[in-house]
Amino acid sequence: MTKFISDEDKIYSEFETFMETTYPEFFKHRSYGGFSIGIGWFQLLRDLFAKINEYVVSERNNGNVIEMRVAQIKEKFGELRVYVDGADDHIAHLIHEAEKVAYATCELCGKPATHTKKGWLQRLCDGHAKS
Ligand SMILES: [Zn+2]
Repeated sequence: MTKFISDEDKIYSEFETFMETTYPEFFKHRSYGGFSIGIGWFQLLRDLFAKINEYVVSERNNGNVIEMRVAQIKEKFGELRVYVDGADDHIAHLIHEAEKVAYATCELCGKPATHTKKGWLQRLCDGHAKS
């Protein structure tokens, strides 16, 4: 597991609070277990859930109630994995697109990922691949 210094702990906890308060219907149950990923992927998750929320709200306005909730969000073999219950094809597509963006994004800082760190696999930018 990534060991966080205190600034990163703060960023992590602010992110978790933001997601749970902005999208309570997706995250409020808390059994999803937090975000087991590096902070470099937080922005793409913000973008992903903004898109999902917009879609769910617009479908609801059309009388189509989608009850989706997050089961787990984690990094596995250097790739982002977002597991949800209740997704339709469109939400599944949005998640798949975000997972592709994550593969191209440094998990530590959010810059373009150019390397896959060996050992425990992790997608990294030039700078983080060297350190
Ligand atoms: Zn980086």
